Amino acid sequence: MPLAKTNLVWEGDLRRQTEAGGAGMAPAAGLPYGLGSGVEGLPHERYDLVIVGAGISGGVIAERAAAELGLVRPPRGPPGHLHPAPSRAVPRRGPGPRAAPGPEGAGRPRRPAPTPLEPPRPAPRPGRAPRARPKAGRRPCGGLTRGNGGHRAPPPTPPVQRSLIIDKRDHIGGNCYDFINDKGFRISQYGVHLFHTKYDRVWEYVNRFSEWMPYEHRVKGKCLDHNGEVKLVPIPPSQETVNTLFEAGVTNEDEMEAWLDARRPKILNPRNGEEMALSRSGPELYEAVFKYYTKKQWDKFPAELDASVLARIPVRLNTDDRYFTDPHQALPKDGYTKIFENMLLDNPLIDIRLSTDFFQIRDQLPEHTMLVFTGPIDAYYASLGLPKLEYRSLRFEEEYHEPEGGFYQEALQVNHPGPNVDYTRIVEYKHKPNQPTEVYDKPGTVIFKEYSTDVGEPYYPVPNPANRELYEKYREMAEKEPGVIFVGRLASYKYFNMDQAILNALEMFDNLKEKGTLEPSTEFKVLPKA
Ligand code: UDP
Repeated sequence: MPLAKTNLVWEGDLRRQTEAGGAGMAPAAGLPYGLGSGVEGLPHERYDLVIVGAGISGGVIAERAAAELGLVRPPRGPPGHLHPAPSRAVPRRGPGPRAAPGPEGAGRPRRPAPTPLEPPRPAPRPGRAPRARPKAGRRPCGGLTRGNGGHRAPPPTPPVQRSLIIDKRDHIGGNCYDFINDKGFRISQYGVHLFHTKYDRVWEYVNRFSEWMPYEHRVKGKCLDHNGEVKLVPIPPSQETVNTLFEAGVTNEDEMEAWLDARRPKILNPRNGEEMALSRSGPELYEAVFKYYTKKQWDKFPAELDASVLARIPVRLNTDDRYFTDPHQALPKDGYTKIFENMLLDNPLIDIRLSTDFFQIRDQLPEHTMLVFTGPIDAYYASLGLPKLEYRSLRFEEEYHEPEGGFYQEALQVNHPGPNVDYTRIVEYKHKPNQPTEVYDKPGTVIFKEYSTDVGEPYYPVPNPANRELYEKYREMAEKEPGVIFVGRLASYKYFNMDQAILNALEMFDNLKEKGTLEPSTEFKVLPKA
């Protein structure tokens, strides 16, 4: 497999591939890294895992399956369960190129291992026998739904530990995908991504696939003040926000609290997004910052959404103008796509096929023990004709400017919460410190106006009671789906942040190692940013 290229430039329709700043490279069948599409001519007849989706969940699962586990099948027991090999049978541990010691053990295998080295058919560990099926009424926690067994009998051949990842897109990285555009800027195809986490485990894990640059995200909002004039203020709202918009004149935390308490209703258990935002901010801030932004983003007013959606944005008593307060906040030095390259490419235990739509080829898949589905759960069951879950997508309008000083706006992300414009925010990637260095000397800059829409690629589940109720129906079917697990933001219909999606996938493997089943252990709550 060709080595991953750094600094890929994708032009136009993303079909032509050249090396940044260098001579053009011949397109490799239109797909990056010389990857193929479709499932014909695969190098192996069977796989442990077929993973639908080359985003965070699929990437982490494939990487872990290859690097950490000696997945073997039990001599007896239900198909569809993978068992960890005894630790002596995991031969390919060892730090990858950037591996730091951490709880995830090794990175990529050091060299190709054409045949698996695990001893065949070890007995399951005492007391660790897999359950034949989930307990009745059991609810998986933390955004994973799994089936209760495989639908194909394990073959008599020695076990392997391979994953096949298929993705209908022509790139890896899922919605994290970024690339160098034709003007030399690193941009994110599916909207700006900011990594932040309080989980040391996740931080250690991602550090094994990239160098990271410290970066604390600071968002500004162009909000309407009490005279209807547009003012630039910090988001989440803080002292400066109320002073600028409402001439509140607060100078410390006590005064800020008093200003808020004088207007915000006391609601102990907010039942929806409106009650949540009002009880934190009072009506003026609610109107200026939350109400219309939410309507534009979700095509619903906050009252029609779960409280958790609005709980993501706090109101600060202090002057902290950072968007997140997590201890780890950083950007990958060479972009997010590079992380996926380091996780997945040049790995003899992972095969990838792009531009390959699961629904077109599901009958032609090679033999496998488990299917890991990371797409929208209702798409998997589309043939049943149930109502569809709601998702929001994004549409981006790109503009190129050469403003005085080289920058279009004051920050990477400027929100436009008012009803005066249709877009929700403008992102100017030149503010990111992980641009190719020459970007900062350019006179120009690219910006993306972000519009929310209900057509196109699903990005966000829409958390509200109706969707949750409908999702429960899908989840119950998924629980019974033989040999299939549903994982990730879309498959588990949860508004995961990047770090939550990573931890969720990592925890599956904790359980795989411990119990022989694929379940995460952390129940993620939507946490406020502070
Ligand atoms: N929100 C808002 N005004 C803002 C920023 C956020 O009303 O200026 C609300 C809105 O409902 C949004 C939600 O808070 O969808 C979560 O915001 P976040 O920035 O976390 O959204 P994401 O970056 O995931 O699109």
